[in-house]
Amino acid sequence: MSEKRLLLGDEAVALGALHAGLSGVYSYPGTPSTEVTEFIQNYAPEVRSRWCTNEKTAMEAALGMSYAGKRALVCMKHVGMNVCADAFVNAAVTGVKGGLVVLAADDPSMHSSQNEQDSRFYAQFAMVPVFEPSDQQEAYDMIREAFAFSEEIGLPVLFRVVTRLAHSRAAVLTGDPSSQNALDPSSDRGWILLPAIARRQYLKLIDKQPLLLSASEGTHHNLLEGTGARGVIACGIGYNYVKEADAQDITLLKVSQYPLPEAQVKALAARCSSILVVEDGQPVVEQGIKALLGAGYPVEGRLSGRLPRTGELMPDNVAAALGVPSSRAFGSAQNLAPRPPQLCPGCGHRDVYAALNQVVAEYPGARVFGDIGCYTLGALPPFSALASCVDMGASITMAKGAADAGIFPAVAVIGDSTFTHSGMTGLLDAVNDHSRITVIISDNLTTAMTGGQDSAGTNKFEAICLGLGVEPEHVRVVVPLPANMPEITRIIREEIEYDGVSVIIPRRECMQTLRRHKK
Ligand code: SF4
Repeated sequence: MSEKRLLLGDEAVALGALHAGLSGVYSYPGTPSTEVTEFIQNYAPEVRSRWCTNEKTAMEAALGMSYAGKRALVCMKHVGMNVCADAFVNAAVTGVKGGLVVLAADDPSMHSSQNEQDSRFYAQFAMVPVFEPSDQQEAYDMIREAFAFSEEIGLPVLFRVVTRLAHSRAAVLTGDPSSQNALDPSSDRGWILLPAIARRQYLKLIDKQPLLLSASEGTHHNLLEGTGARGVIACGIGYNYVKEADAQDITLLKVSQYPLPEAQVKALAARCSSILVVEDGQPVVEQGIKALLGAGYPVEGRLSGRLPRTGELMPDNVAAALGVPSSRAFGSAQNLAPRPPQLCPGCGHRDVYAALNQVVAEYPGARVFGDIGCYTLGALPPFSALASCVDMGASITMAKGAADAGIFPAVAVIGDSTFTHSGMTGLLDAVNDHSRITVIISDNLTTAMTGGQDSAGTNKFEAICLGLGVEPEHVRVVVPLPANMPEITRIIREEIEYDGVSVIIPRRECMQTLRRHKK
């Protein structure tokens, strides 16, 4: 039965996936993607749902579900695509059986990320289709189509959203739910990527490319509108900004499905004397149509400087690029006092940094390598404790490399969830190399930064570290509280002085999840 609901973009994706007959969702939390999985968990607890150890394990579990004939969804933020890339690229070669959709939530402007990478490049690389909705209604409708298309074409579909779409609400008209696929345990050798088979599978993937292109040319999600002299290509959410600007003399090609519909681009170019590309993220389409139309055809966008090279699209900068006066209703926020983010009052990470700073002040050559989580805020005043924060797990491996180069003491600070995501392998490297590093696994018993999802290693960290070969007497557990400062600083000192790999686990629950649990 059809129903109108007010939904976040992420919620529209989640509900569309459920109504497509989803059997399982596998995810690693990351802003702005987290709400998709949370919605599914709350709305349909009967659907298999896991917060996985990382995005690669999530992708592989979903591929297994697809192998069994069922529809599976994988959710992550854009940088998670780097972690799951091995499985993602190879899933295009094996192909899929049950519909497999990979939701990548990109974060232009880096609201809560370390880069602005554009997931559409991964789809080009893997040679799989991309669906990129322009609004919440399309998010709901397109993910349903994405599952069907994935099965029809036998490939994973990348479903790209951006922060503004993921985290804004609009009315969405929903449809009738479909039932789940039946289990299909049949198999063929295409799933075994030994070289001889992989070569055949790769040719199949190449052979599918014209079908992907003709699907892009024929879909109602890629549309030519208007008869104006100036050409505009608007991708995903950029379509809304162009419509809002209401430029009168344009011919508009809306692109929400890739590969790029080349015939439609050429038709637009034939009608117009130039093309402006409006795309959130990196200039994927701008580069593509420059190659398609040749150097003589004027193409503008982020590369040409007509739109800002970095940061997310806004109605204002799109209007300006179209030569339309800004319709902005709100004044600028320049007179608001800046409010840098801070660790919550009473957070255990505060006590970890207070103790660590006290000890490393005794060592002029000390460097503390950070990682990704709430505790990254230890890089800011009042602690200013960290020398680096690069990617998930890099604290340990960077500390190892710096120690190899002669830095002493080299200390890594990593959270519990980040440690199981990508830190364990680095710790094994350090153990195997007898590196002189001290690793602090600041365990708050949750994945706090994204809202308190389960942490894969809870209650297992001592066993993991021992299993990886850290000496039992150098796996130390403390409770990070101001009252315990003398004990914590003593233990940090002792472990820094140890000529090998040591691990200190300060363990105290995140204040936010503690509050929720008490309620
Ligand atoms: S959310 Fe939890 S872990 Fe993060 S800063 Fe607040 S108390 Fe600390």
